[in-house]
Amino acid sequence: MGIDIFKNLLNESSKIVVFTGAGISTESGIPDFRSPSGMWTKNQPIEFKDFLSSEDIRIEFWKRKFDIDATISNAKPNSGHNAISKLNKIGKVYKVITQNIDNLHQNSGILSDDVIELHGNTTYAKCLDCEKRYELDLIKRLFESTNKPPYCEECKGIIKTATISFGQPMPKNEMLRAEEATLSCDLFFAIGSSLQVYPAASFPIIAKNNGANLVILNREATDLDKYADLVIHNEIGQFLSENLALFN
Ligand code: NAD
Ligand code: ZN
Repeated sequence: MGIDIFKNLLNESSKIVVFTGAGISTESGIPDFRSPSGMWTKNQPIEFKDFLSSEDIRIEFWKRKFDIDATISNAKPNSGHNAISKLNKIGKVYKVITQNIDNLHQNSGILSDDVIELHGNTTYAKCLDCEKRYELDLIKRLFESTNKPPYCEECKGIIKTATISFGQPMPKNEMLRAEEATLSCDLFFAIGSSLQVYPAASFPIIAKNNGANLVILNREATDLDKYADLVIHNEIGQFLSENLALFN
């Protein structure tokens, strides 16, 4: 039965990589993309090339950002994040590779060094040219007083949240770190991702091809279920808090 297989796989593993998607944060109140209540049912995502080429689109980008921001900045890690954090503390979870941009793995107590953010982080902003970091409260004040998108005070470059949009190059260092972790783990555990966004979704396949076991936890089927040693259809917080607790 599934739970026994899950517990055996976890017991046998000493170097687990957890890979998360938006599904782990829905129980913290942040909508995912593809569920019926997800963000895409409201808005099409803004592509990087459009963000770069149009000031009107950048205004729309920042409007949407500050609309969703109250939700993201008030969100707290849930029992799923916390269960993973405990396994990281006892050394069983080596790295967390996340597609999420909400900082909730770090807020659950995992060191930043152990969290690999493939799609960046939406809790701060950066100049796209010189990479100077900007805090959001300053950007919000500027945006609300001028109704113009922000530009860098150092180099006049375009400022954007430190996230990776569709069409934007993946961050080199994070991709290398994710590859290293994927190739060195003995269990790759994908949680709450529809596994449709590439190149992020290639990591479960790389792990499997390299001999690691692959476990997928998601409430609905994913495109990569056929590669998995075990697929668990369940609610993330409930499942992880019940079934990871015995390893603490
Ligand atoms: P996705 O929306 O494509 O998939 C989420 C999956 O999680 C869905 O298959 C859904 O059925 C499942 N799910 C949702 N809540 C669940 C729960 N409580 N228990 C079990 N399963 C649950 O998200 P994705 O695969 O991460 O890809 C979308 C992109 O969206 C990512 O690139 C990410 O950067 C971005 N995103 C991030 C956040 C965030 O940071 N929290 C939120 C929305 C989107
Ligand atoms: Zn700059």
